[in-house]
Amino acid sequence: MSLSTDKYIDNDKVYIVWGWDDIQHLRPGWSIKQCQEALNNIAKQLQNGSIQEGWEIIENLLDYKYQDDGKKEYCEICKAEVCFEKSNYKGENTPFEYNVCNNCERHICPNCTDFRNETPLCRNCMEDDGEE
Ligand SMILES: [Zn+2]
Ligand SMILES: [Zn+2]
Repeated sequence: MSLSTDKYIDNDKVYIVWGWDDIQHLRPGWSIKQCQEALNNIAKQLQNGSIQEGWEIIENLLDYKYQDDGKKEYCEICKAEVCFEKSNYKGENTPFEYNVCNNCERHICPNCTDFRNETPLCRNCMEDDGEE
């Protein structure tokens, strides 16, 4: 994109504009007319592909930039912070990876998980088990 991208960002919209000159950048030998025709021929697919990729990029960026704010999860028993996968975290205070209780399906931290029967059970379900 040869146009200055600054001009195409305002508070609530991001614009991306591809022009025939971008085609010419990739095919320096082509005439303007050839480039314009080529751009027209690929326009629909370029648009669809860009939108599709765009969604993925947005999702990844949101994940990356807001992982500490928007997507916090807590152990459903002791309320300690937990996460789905440690490797998703880049910060220093990495939370526990949560387990899923095999009985009540609550997300629970390692401290609240009992592996006695090889399947993770939360403290509550473990106690229920014992009483019966
Ligand atoms: Zn816990
Ligand atoms: Zn449980």
